Amino acid sequence: MPPEVLHEASKAMKKYKNTGYSILELPHRSAAFTDIVDESKELVRDLCNIGSEYEVVWIPGGGRMQFAMLPMNYQWQKGTPAYIDSGHWAAEAIDYARFYGEAVVMATSKHSKYDRLPDLPPGFGKAKYLHMTTNNTIYGTQYHEDMIVDVPLVADMSSDIFSKQRNYGRYALFYAAAQKNMGTPGVAMVAIRKDFAALAGDHLPPMFSYKAHIKENSVLNTANVSGIYISLLMLRWTKEAGIDKIAQKNMRKAAMVYEAIDKSSIYLPHVQVKEHRSHMNVCFTIKDKEVEQAFMQMCEKNNIIGIEGHRSVGGFRVSLYNPVSVDDVQTLVEIMAEFERKG
Ligand code: PMP
Repeated sequence: MPPEVLHEASKAMKKYKNTGYSILELPHRSAAFTDIVDESKELVRDLCNIGSEYEVVWIPGGGRMQFAMLPMNYQWQKGTPAYIDSGHWAAEAIDYARFYGEAVVMATSKHSKYDRLPDLPPGFGKAKYLHMTTNNTIYGTQYHEDMIVDVPLVADMSSDIFSKQRNYGRYALFYAAAQKNMGTPGVAMVAIRKDFAALAGDHLPPMFSYKAHIKENSVLNTANVSGIYISLLMLRWTKEAGIDKIAQKNMRKAAMVYEAIDKSSIYLPHVQVKEHRSHMNVCFTIKDKEVEQAFMQMCEKNNIIGIEGHRSVGGFRVSLYNPVSVDDVQTLVEIMAEFERKG
């Protein structure tokens, strides 16, 4: 998280404006919290260049909750949902959809351990919606272009929202668990185009209903006030930094790590198609598995932590989320070079 955001958040822990409350105590039905929700919604619309044709809601439960809510809300619609299986989370979204009926996998790159984005078929028939994952966190692939499809396009943007300019207007619904570029865990931002929201089911317990969350302006339940506030701080930080600048910085950071991998004779990239490489998560292994632990220790000594890869891929995953600085990445690539030099 950016130090400015941590600083603001810690001030609010003690005293939130002149409300007499800490942000941890602020009632979810207070005017001060309504202001937080309203400003956050406007900032999401502004950053995504979308207008009032989109509803924006905060829903508890993070990414997986959306894996479930999506098929729950659209199971009443004719047709079958279509999914692109481009990685671990994409596959989990499919598993969740199957609790509610059939879900068609239109494309998958599972057979090559998700080392690339799958080839897409020419059309998606009469699918209720097409679900895709813009950035595959665990395998390190990313859709850099926004698709044009003839069915409602739905995207999980949990690990790359606001990392670059996107044509958000192409998506009927997009969501992101907050914990990467937009805040802390346990809550997700969901943006739904009003015509698509209108198609959502009415026969659901309110906590699982998009319509109910929209109607109650994100305070259907006792909302995660402090979590949503931290998201607001992240949104303000993102606006201040500017998405164009953030995108340039992310490209530079990613290029530095990929270059370090590509020019070395010991590091191996997981993603085999260069154009599919993520600017958010760079995954690699070391040829000689025996030395991976030593590399990890050297990183830890230099205060680079949390780079172990997911157990299904092994090796390392360097996350370059928006607040990570070029200097941080410089430290990493120097360590990578030094480790290789020392043999
Ligand atoms: N989707 C993506 C792309 C993710 O990276 C993650 C995990 N960070 C999830 C969904 C799951 O989110 P959560 O843990 O909030 O359920």
